[in-house]
Amino acid sequence: MISKTRPVTLAAVMALLPQTQCRLCGFDGCRPYAEAILSGTAKINRCPPGGDVTRLALAGLLGEEAPVWEGERGPGPRVLVAIDPKACIGCARCLPACPVDAIVGAPGLLHAVVSAECTGCLLCLAPCPVDCFTTLAHETPPHGPWPDRSQEEARRARLRAYRKTRRARHPQRRTSAHADRERKRREIREALEQARRERGWQGAMHDRRITRGE
Ligand code: SF4
Ligand code: SF4
Ligand code: SF4
Repeated sequence: MISKTRPVTLAAVMALLPQTQCRLCGFDGCRPYAEAILSGTAKINRCPPGGDVTRLALAGLLGEEAPVWEGERGPGPRVLVAIDPKACIGCARCLPACPVDAIVGAPGLLHAVVSAECTGCLLCLAPCPVDCFTTLAHETPPHGPWPDRSQEEARRARLRAYRKTRRARHPQRRTSAHADRERKRREIREALEQARRERGWQGAMHDRRITRGE
């Protein structure tokens, strides 16, 4: 039950969620979950990436007792994913699945994960027909306020999810399209560089042949 003594805003609830958009809460992203909390239709114990930090902070915000974790929904260690460049067939099925646009590539070309933007939600695994995703431990030192996520990461994930949704809803809108294209190009360059480093010289030659259409 939400406290009647002080107004609780959607923005305040959203600020306490880590914004991975992973759907482990059972909602279609962080915002729908925040709306459900505000309307009193969802408990505050359903966000594993937020862990106890989110659960207890939401309890404090709403002025209620913190409920225990629901069922098997407790927090686990953060991961990130990488694409095996030798296995990727360039089908692009993983692209729409990533809520924070952390995968770069185009149909028929090698795809790669921008590791700095990967939240570890694992939503990209199921659509891949050749199982070329590998799950890795996330080794970046924690910056908080969450045990393994920072406020800055949450801000970026939220912005990227917002941009992706906006592009899907308004594909004809040109505002910021140039900046988005430039960002994508930069990320593709960086991700390909990373993939080349991982594959060594032979892989780089293979990529060049793909780029030239050989
Ligand atoms: S981080 Fe995942 S579980 Fe937490 S609110 Fe967002 S979508 Fe739901
Ligand atoms: S690359 Fe996969 S695991 Fe990483 S954020 Fe995107 S969908 Fe989630
Ligand atoms: S779904 Fe798998 S095979 Fe298809 S582009 Fe993505 S990583 Fe490559």
